[in-house]
Amino acid sequence: MANAAPASAAISAAPASASASPASGAAIVLAPPAARRLLVSPLAAGRYEIRFTASADTHDKLRRAQDLLRHAIPSGDPAEIFDRALKALLEDLARKKCAATGRPRTSRGTARGSRHIPAKLKRAVWLRDGSRCAFVARSGRRRAERGFLELHHVEPHAVGGEPTVDNIQLRCRAHNAYEAECSTARARSSNANTPFARAL
Ligand SMILES: [Zn+2]
Repeated sequence: MANAAPASAAISAAPASASASPASGAAIVLAPPAARRLLVSPLAAGRYEIRFTASADTHDKLRRAQDLLRHAIPSGDPAEIFDRALKALLEDLARKKCAATGRPRTSRGTARGSRHIPAKLKRAVWLRDGSRCAFVARSGRRRAERGFLELHHVEPHAVGGEPTVDNIQLRCRAHNAYEAECSTARARSSNANTPFARAL
């Protein structure tokens, strides 16, 4: 982990600008965006340099963590401290988002037809799908996004899909919304074939 970059080296993310000449009808010319400073640079196999600008508050927290961990990390290596901090954060997020816990309680079960997904089932899905979106494109490609994960009913709840390990998968928000749209479109299309709909 590199030290925080100086203020003068802060990330520049200037948006692309456009210019046009309506009178002449000239084509719009997009200026290329300013070169972005790399945040993460691979150095060697399994080694990365990570740079970011931190606030005084974050800097103070790092110092306090270095002092409190002096017995375990005598060098005060920020990379080790950030690794511990991220591990604790990920465990906390898993607990909140997917009810992951090292001490699972006995489930009281789920009533048939309920939308409730028991914590035990969430943990099983979370672990089976590797904390990533399990959407697989027709090409067989799985992009496996890790952010904004949601629990997805393969057979929608509205048509009787039960909250079981086989019927629940992880999806990123975009793929969950996409599949919900597909499911709605399928329902509309099958309704269009009912005698009532054909009479309209
Ligand atoms: Zn996805």
